[in-house]
Amino acid sequence: MAACITKELSCPGCGAVNKSHMWIEIDASADPEQRERMLDETLFFWECPDCNYQAQMVYPCLYHDKERGLLICLSPSGRTQQVIEAEQRHPGLAGLKKRLVLSPAELKEKVMIFESGLNDVALEMVKLALQELTESKQQTRVDRTFFLTMSEELDYLGFSMFLRGEEKPVYQGVRLEVYEKSLRAAERVDFQESGFQLVDLALARTLLEQ
Ligand SMILES: [Zn+2]
Repeated sequence: MAACITKELSCPGCGAVNKSHMWIEIDASADPEQRERMLDETLFFWECPDCNYQAQMVYPCLYHDKERGLLICLSPSGRTQQVIEAEQRHPGLAGLKKRLVLSPAELKEKVMIFESGLNDVALEMVKLALQELTESKQQTRVDRTFFLTMSEELDYLGFSMFLRGEEKPVYQGVRLEVYEKSLRAAERVDFQESGFQLVDLALARTLLEQ
């Protein structure tokens, strides 16, 4: 069941107060439209009807994909009361993957990873390796890396990478065998499904160091 709430927001541009919809819960199969909007990055996009001021409006949202057994909690401020409450409402773990993400971009990436049938722990390991390689090759820092696409036909996993100080991403790819290798590594490390977990680069690093 989708849960949409309406709130009055005052525009930072012109001060006009308008009603705005906020999707605090999305069910992927019941709300295909909201899933689409999340994937095309318009769900958290806000535009003032009076002055057309535009902004990203980020708020906590629980994304549920029952078919894939996926429950993702978007919580911009991290492990807040809202995450604890989501945990209490969905205490079960049987066949469920629970993830915590901090931004709409991370939510989109997580959904794309699972919809591609990939293991996100292994994928974060690939991202970590790719990021380290890029940093040493280009002598720069990588701020963020996002999974973009997978093609079995082209033997390709694609990522977008934001280098420090650059607004536009660069695109990098690896062959699927790199992922397969990480998948085997992910199976050997001590990772267990529990509550809403932050499966990110930091976790991949910790698991690999162990
Ligand atoms: Zn306005």
